[in-house]
Amino acid sequence: MNVNQQPHMASPYGQPQPGYQGYPQPGYGGDNVPSGYPAQYAPYNGPGSAYQQGPPQGYSPYASFPSKTLTTNLVSDLSSSSPLDLGMRGPPTSGAPPVSGAQNYSQFGQGETQNGPPPMVAPPQRPPVSQPYTPAAVNLPGPQPTYGQQYGAPPVSMQQMTNQMASMQVGSTAPSPAGPGYAPQSFPQAPPVSQPPFSTAQVQPGPTQSYGRPLPSTQPSFPRPPLPTSQPSAFPAGPPPTSTPSQLPGVIQPQPPVSQPPPYHSGPPPTSTGFPPRPPFHGMQGLPMTSQGPPMASQGPPMASQGPPMASQGPPMGSQGPPMAQANHILPTQPGMPPGPINTSLSGPPPQPGMQGYPAQQNGAFGQVRGPQPGYTGPYPGQQNYGAPSTAPAPAPAAPKRLDPDSIPSPIQVIEDDKANKGSEPFTTGVRGQAPPLVTTKFQVKDQGNASPRYIRCTSYNMPCNSDMAKQSQVPLAAVIKPLAPLPPDETPPYLVDHGESGPIRCNRCKAYMCPYMQFIEGGRRFQCGFCSCVTEVPPHYFQHLDHTGKRVDCYDRPELSMGSYEFMTTVDYCKNNKFPQPPAFIFLIDVSYNAVKNGMVGIVCQELKTLLDYLPRENPDVESNIRVGFVTYNKVLHFYNVKASLAQPQMMVVSDVADMFVPLLDGFLVNVSESRVVIESLLDQIPEMFADTRETETVFGPVIQAGLEALKAADCAGKLFVFHSSLPIAEAPGKLKNREDKKLVGTDKEKSLFQPQVSFYNTLAKECVAQGCCVDLFLFPNQYVDVATLGVVPTSTGGSIYKYTYFQAPSDQERFLNDLRRDVQKQMGFDAVMRVRTSTGIRVTDFFGSFFMSNTTDVELAGLDCDKTVTVEFKHDDKLSEETGALMQCAVLYTSCSGQRRLRIHNMAVNCCSQLADLYRNCETDTIINYFAKYAYRSILSSPTKNVRDSLMNQCAQILACYRKNCASPSSAGQLILPECMKLLPVYLNCVLKSDVLQPGADVSLDDRAYLRQLVSTMDVAESHVFFYPRLLPLQKLDVESMTLPMAVRDSEERLSRGGVYLLENGLNIFLWVGVSAQQELLQNIFGTPAFSQIDSNMTSLPALDNPFSKSLREIIESVRAQRSRYMKLMVVKQEDKLELIFKHFLVEDKNNNGGASYVDFLCHMHKEIRQLLS
Ligand SMILES: [Zn+2]
Repeated sequence: MNVNQQPHMASPYGQPQPGYQGYPQPGYGGDNVPSGYPAQYAPYNGPGSAYQQGPPQGYSPYASFPSKTLTTNLVSDLSSSSPLDLGMRGPPTSGAPPVSGAQNYSQFGQGETQNGPPPMVAPPQRPPVSQPYTPAAVNLPGPQPTYGQQYGAPPVSMQQMTNQMASMQVGSTAPSPAGPGYAPQSFPQAPPVSQPPFSTAQVQPGPTQSYGRPLPSTQPSFPRPPLPTSQPSAFPAGPPPTSTPSQLPGVIQPQPPVSQPPPYHSGPPPTSTGFPPRPPFHGMQGLPMTSQGPPMASQGPPMASQGPPMASQGPPMGSQGPPMAQANHILPTQPGMPPGPINTSLSGPPPQPGMQGYPAQQNGAFGQVRGPQPGYTGPYPGQQNYGAPSTAPAPAPAAPKRLDPDSIPSPIQVIEDDKANKGSEPFTTGVRGQAPPLVTTKFQVKDQGNASPRYIRCTSYNMPCNSDMAKQSQVPLAAVIKPLAPLPPDETPPYLVDHGESGPIRCNRCKAYMCPYMQFIEGGRRFQCGFCSCVTEVPPHYFQHLDHTGKRVDCYDRPELSMGSYEFMTTVDYCKNNKFPQPPAFIFLIDVSYNAVKNGMVGIVCQELKTLLDYLPRENPDVESNIRVGFVTYNKVLHFYNVKASLAQPQMMVVSDVADMFVPLLDGFLVNVSESRVVIESLLDQIPEMFADTRETETVFGPVIQAGLEALKAADCAGKLFVFHSSLPIAEAPGKLKNREDKKLVGTDKEKSLFQPQVSFYNTLAKECVAQGCCVDLFLFPNQYVDVATLGVVPTSTGGSIYKYTYFQAPSDQERFLNDLRRDVQKQMGFDAVMRVRTSTGIRVTDFFGSFFMSNTTDVELAGLDCDKTVTVEFKHDDKLSEETGALMQCAVLYTSCSGQRRLRIHNMAVNCCSQLADLYRNCETDTIINYFAKYAYRSILSSPTKNVRDSLMNQCAQILACYRKNCASPSSAGQLILPECMKLLPVYLNCVLKSDVLQPGADVSLDDRAYLRQLVSTMDVAESHVFFYPRLLPLQKLDVESMTLPMAVRDSEERLSRGGVYLLENGLNIFLWVGVSAQQELLQNIFGTPAFSQIDSNMTSLPALDNPFSKSLREIIESVRAQRSRYMKLMVVKQEDKLELIFKHFLVEDKNNNGGASYVDFLCHMHKEIRQLLS
């Protein structure tokens, strides 16, 4: 399986084009988009976007915050010394006695703060960065059973479930008119340079110089933004309140009219006759509809035919327990048979006659074709011909002993139900413990006191009151936090709050920041902390009277008193070394060895940078970016470039002593783009020429990062390195690696070593990078094993990203690479960041997942934190929680903005606490649980055999479901599988995680790909992990070009594919266009410009721009799907029955796969067995 859109089995796609010379000009040259860049890769709007924002609904919450407390003098309080530290630690120094939990904060001492106005804590020194963050050994709770993950024969139990079914209708993703890339800049012609007068001297580092614009010591390095205190902070973009910072100009996200599905009826249990009609587009022509009732039933045999009438399958759903927690019953019994042990029915499927019952040519009717298609190997033998018209109304007794896929929980149904239920109303965050809509639902958020689900999603919005309950249920208590998440344009970015020269107001003891959970008392003179209960005096300048309800009268004028998310301006106390930071720098380090030159990468990068440097991140789109840039090329040696504006030509300095890296020049290495534009362009023109004939094949890697790090140190700033690298670094140098690829270790106890770095050098280097705020993004262009597990150590410890373009070929891959690069360079990010999550008494954060470094147990250090990155945190009890107060968390991220401002972003979240297990189960979010489980499992394989990891994960899920069954579901036959409503998709999604390439690889999955995916998943948000594990599959023959809405997705199974159809499948990394052999000629003509299936070129990576509405719509859909993801997805055309189809089928995750991964149906039966064992 190829995870990287590039074949490592060289053949099927991406072959070098014969006769290809060099690389073509990037394709964005022609079309000017006046407003600038983006369109198709929507940098600020991408990843969070399984949601598409709905039309603005008139919400403009604090459009006019009065400008209170506006700040004043930034530099007036430079006296106290404070390192880079959130200042959160310190022993209690005031008020109430310590409560449990507080002692955790004392490790850095220094809580000298007294009650009263100058409460700024000035913790002394940054702790030594000495302890590498060691991921915990695998310790999945619960016993580790020894059953194997073998699912022999397909199950045969006839099970039925009563499941809620609502009518489905599509109304989600809007195709966004894709803008044509960004406008080319016309640069002044660089002087022709044929003989670069490079000096190739080795220059010793001179005295440290400051680059850019050294600031007078009496002034802050940046002006305070000219904003009233309560303006939206500029983070995603610019200070002006009217700008919609999370959007780049030119990114169009049209809000098409969304046809709302009929109201969802959650009340009564569905009955076989109670289905609302499906939308008309299922085109049931030719089906014996009348006998089936509503169209829904035509997707398969009517439910009733599979067993007893649904109403009689179990207790009415409402009686299963609390109203929200409707159980999903799956009866293992066949009609007329007594319930029996499920294992008796797991004995293999009877052969099913009628496999060929597939009706030919039902273009446009995916619902009809359920059986295996001629010429296909079904997911497993004996597959029943479900839903074929001939059998549709078949009576139950004829049904086979096999679980009907339509009777088990359908992800599509759940997704569509959620859209119908929650997609129309804005989600307000003011109600504690309210689970948000799913990530697949488009909704608008109104911040009314808790962080938007775009920033924080929890596994459960009802936390168990005590640890016994938590242990019993085994439901993980975790939050997925995306601190700098981009917002849709109709939502307000966090406001920027300035509490003046004394800094943000905080609890004296636990150092929590002022937030809606602080209770003002004594007429407003003091406040009691919601986290630790300590009472703190209100500084005089912050005093305000209370109203009759005890609220401050200015409550709604202040974001920090009324909103879930906001930012604080910080003081110099929050800055490293007690001085305001310099603006950050970007350093581009380009491999110019033979492979990198030959595959076109060097030329493409240099060409692209000439334009891209005009789009460096900035807070205000009208102002030039403050970010300085520098350039290095390398193979076995490093070449630094002096691009000072005053030079006529760039100068090169070679450092061949890579053992002890230093930066040979200080002045002229990091420069301002506009000032040095001519020199930079000249350099970028010359680099490909200079190395065009290189014969050097060896590279170094460690010294490259060291060079960038040293340059940032010399400039005394944070920044990001963009490393473009092609091969295993075997040249003699620190960090040299050997090829240790050994596939024989896969499946053994030593497999874990393949995911661990082969040398410790990079761990040490990563630590140094983090200390400097040096984030590393790595772009890999390998033709063979490069040891991603080792090369990835620095990126994944510094908040960076890894991109991988295996067998890079310019013609077919440069579009993907360039889009990734553009997005990566432009995206909003914070530098030199530290994140701390505080919790209320009774729980605390015990574990962290993501790309970062930790030198102690509480502070997540991120050299860089971009808008795509998430940190997943896990909570554990250390005391009882109270239903009355709930549980609170506050995530504070201190970071340097791209303009050099030091800011704090605060996200607050309150969830309910419950003393009944049923309440826990009714308010969970499975997508978030899966995000947590995937990260947990993917980290665990570093320390445990993969099989053990899979087994314990499966066991934990079985325990979760068994606990529900035992404690929450009403008594029923032991043979019934009863799933909590909120978790009914847990089995199908869990199976997707278990059989993913990381945990259960096929023979064709490379070790590098596994290491790459492992690292990639560790920073995914919930929307990304959802589509990654359960890809979106859209039947394009259902596309209504008039409506602008996407067709409703179908389940990821081959039996859902119609030979007459064309389908789009995407998982956040890949897009496939699957074409059925019998696809209608008109459809093919519209898409490909040819009516003949045989003439479709499966090597194409983009669709022809044809002048018909269908083609236009489809291309818009593809662009809008791409714009939603943080990585550009290359299009791959897959013709049915073509050899490429094997790759495509790997993503049909409900089916059995070649790696031994179970089908959904089989896995569900297996889970049921596990649960029954736990219950007996
Ligand atoms: Zn406190």
